Amino acid sequence: MSKRYDALVIGAGPAGASAAYWLAQNGHSVLVVERKRFPRDKTCGDGLTPRSVKQLTDMGLAEPLSDFHRYDGLRSIAHGVTMELAWPQHPDFPDYGYVVRRRDLDEMVAERAVKAGATLWQGCEAIEPTLENGIVTGATVKHKDTGTLENVSARYVVVADGANSRFGRALGTTRDRKYPLGMAVRGYYRSPRHDDPWIESHLDIVDRSGDHVPGYGWIFPLGDGRVNVGVGLLSTFSGWKDINTSKLMETFVDVAPSYWGLSAETAEGPVTGGKLPTGGSVTPNVGPTWIVAGDASGSINPFNGEGIAYAYETGRMVAGVVDQALTSGDGLALQQYPELLVETYGLYFKVARLFVKIIGNPAVMRELTRVGMQSRTLMEWVLRIMANLLRPDEIGPAEAAYALVEKIVALTPEP
Ligand SMILES: Cc1cc2nc3c(=O)[nH]c(=O)nc-3n(C[C@H](O)[C@H](O)[C@H](O)COP(=O)(O)OP(=O)(O)OC[C@H]3O[C@@H](n4cnc5c(N)ncnc54)[C@H](O)[C@@H]3O)c2cc1C
Repeated sequence: MSKRYDALVIGAGPAGASAAYWLAQNGHSVLVVERKRFPRDKTCGDGLTPRSVKQLTDMGLAEPLSDFHRYDGLRSIAHGVTMELAWPQHPDFPDYGYVVRRRDLDEMVAERAVKAGATLWQGCEAIEPTLENGIVTGATVKHKDTGTLENVSARYVVVADGANSRFGRALGTTRDRKYPLGMAVRGYYRSPRHDDPWIESHLDIVDRSGDHVPGYGWIFPLGDGRVNVGVGLLSTFSGWKDINTSKLMETFVDVAPSYWGLSAETAEGPVTGGKLPTGGSVTPNVGPTWIVAGDASGSINPFNGEGIAYAYETGRMVAGVVDQALTSGDGLALQQYPELLVETYGLYFKVARLFVKIIGNPAVMRELTRVGMQSRTLMEWVLRIMANLLRPDEIGPAEAAYALVEKIVALTPEP
């Protein structure tokens, strides 16, 4: 009879690798199935904030991480004003981030999980859940090189299969379409400023004819001769469905500051895109024997499109409750997870969702960035809120953000 694992993890991205690492670290038998083979690309901005660095450090990866490009903070550009904002000092998070291609990052973390004791099957896709008396007992896994199907049995199944989450949908998860959904594309460019100490974000994009184009842009230096360039927008932006992100990218590359040296000639590889499910938009996120982490649970921060840190964090939370279930023998331990998510992110995400709804109005967005860019103190505060990096001794993030939203509402021109 084939082995029964304590946990089967579906997907070896940030959420799956983190869940597998923390479960293996606690002595449980874990199988991770990943449909691709490492090293594999994943469309992303490749930006790691201090929240991500903390999680990676906790997984013992501070040293290998230090081989990559470390940066000090955010250069924010809007309305012709440029402001360099260092990451804040914080008791729990470092004051620096990294930019690491997902090709390198995800392999590094998956290897770490394996070192901790997890088994990783690459080129293996979980096709569908297996059920006994209506209860999920594992998955049918396809070995992609041979086409062989194999039933894997596990006490608990961790769903970490990313934004489209086909496996999660097969279990009945759905994304609430009222929640903001991000759409973003990125490409790599060779650049003389590849080792810039700031990641750069453009809060407004103005084309050559002087027209404001909805969306935001970023340029993240990789330190290896290249930069990651991308544009994004949210479903809360008015008319978002009519916006062609590839065209938006062309416009951004055309108008981006010349010091980056971006052009069709310096482009490397194709421009690719993806969806960003935000704000805890996917439910249910737990069943009797299965539990969902990362993008599959819609855990991206609506404020800034950051999802890697939240994937590591939710993967770790999932590992925590699965560990309790395994140790106590009581599967009900899993049911703490929704409450844990609400405690950790509930109010913050709620405010973020409200905020992005408000800035969906282009006039408000312009007014906000115009006012914000006149005050360094305000922008430093905005950065701390948006990156979820307020110190515990400061006023609670939610209250602070509510106050910010109130300010924005006050600035909103009457219709
Ligand atoms: C254009 C773009 C830019 C972004 N920029 C940033 C950024 O700069 N910083 C940031 O923090 N976040 C960014 N994000 C968000 C970030 O990429 C995600 O939040 C993050 O990858 C979520 O990790 P995950 O593990 O949940 O999912 P994923 O990273 O998508 O990993 C899921 C894994 O599961 C595997 N898989 C899927 N289905 C199966 C199956 N059935 N069987 C086996 N394996 C399966 C996939 O191959 C994949 O490896 C960006 C997203 C996009 C689209």
